[in-house]
Amino acid sequence: MSQLVWTDCDMGGLSCDLVTASHAEMSRPSHAGGCKCSCFVHAADMTEPGKSLCDGQARGRGSLDNAVGRFEPYARVRVDDGWGTEDAAPPLRTQVAHERPRSAITRNSSPDLSFDRSVNVYRGCEHGCIYCFARPGHAWLGLSPGLDFETRLVARPGIAEVLERELRRKSYRPATLAIGTYTDPYQPIEATHGLMREVLAVLRRFRHPVGIVTKGSLIERDIDILGEMAAEGLCAVGVSVTTLDRAVAREMEPRVPTPARRLQVIERLAAAGVPVRICASPLVPGLTDHELEAILEAGAGAGAVAASMIPLRLPREVAGLFAEWVAAAYPDRAGKVMRRVRDLHGGQDYDPAFGRRMTGQGTWAQLYRARFQTACTRLGLARKMPALRSDLFAVPLDTPDQPSLF
Ligand code: SF4
Repeated sequence: MSQLVWTDCDMGGLSCDLVTASHAEMSRPSHAGGCKCSCFVHAADMTEPGKSLCDGQARGRGSLDNAVGRFEPYARVRVDDGWGTEDAAPPLRTQVAHERPRSAITRNSSPDLSFDRSVNVYRGCEHGCIYCFARPGHAWLGLSPGLDFETRLVARPGIAEVLERELRRKSYRPATLAIGTYTDPYQPIEATHGLMREVLAVLRRFRHPVGIVTKGSLIERDIDILGEMAAEGLCAVGVSVTTLDRAVAREMEPRVPTPARRLQVIERLAAAGVPVRICASPLVPGLTDHELEAILEAGAGAGAVAASMIPLRLPREVAGLFAEWVAAAYPDRAGKVMRRVRDLHGGQDYDPAFGRRMTGQGTWAQLYRARFQTACTRLGLARKMPALRSDLFAVPLDTPDQPSLF
């Protein structure tokens, strides 16, 4: 028997003719209440992208779809409940849930990564970059890597206290802590939650090294802490600039500050003495790859001292979301973009093999690397950030609520 699909049409006046299962195959568990219509249909019928959404719901977001994640037995599809198209569905609102973290530091042993520990203050990211490799993580929450990833966020209040407890353990040995390598700590909800600033305050008190990656201009709020830590060799920041073209950025990363604003962030951090790396990542073949040298040049001009570049990779659900997006946003180039992505990853949308997943392989990968290295040499950009100091780490006697008497 094929998998069943859960259909929820409680969206207020939809019009669609997408249900292909027979009535006998449906159940209406909430219909008895008189206000909702929910149905089961076969998953085999859920093959077209965009079926989970109404027109207008994805407005201002990156993904065009909200298909459920890979672990869900049911999917949501639109159903015509007879009300036609009189009421347009409102755009999805951003919602935030809270999770009390039990641990703060996540360890990894990946040979592809330059760090072995990280902290993630939010799950999901309102920035909504269509290519975001963190999207598949939302499936673990039973949510969609599509629009749920951008609109149903999880904040982790109390993470700074948990981090402090972990840093106080006798067995703890310091090394650079990465933040922003999964979801962006300076996404818009940080303005009201302030979790990243609390985490930074702990790291400053412990004189613990931290490497941050962000696209958010909100990082400027914390320049006081970052400048102080940088003066002791305790922090470095990577700022992602994927394109200099406002229109492309708007389509591809709808809620990220403009490329010009991100360059200004680099300028301000550099002026405060914070070492900055410009991350020309991901490089999207056939769409932004021609800009590589210009991006690096703009970064160097703004004060970046190092650079990095990773060609686009499309793990798990990201492949379908990206293919759908590029076909809608750039129909003239979509075929070329997807073909070149596959050229880069051994004929697949994504090759998860260590040593290849971040670099790609084949002629295009070699060409990108050569162009990147030539441009870095010309612009005086290092390929690695200066090492941060771990030797200054010290567990403070005081706690935030109880200052030391000595
Ligand atoms: S800013 Fe980073 S974490 Fe947020 S959506 Fe974009 S790529 Fe993902």
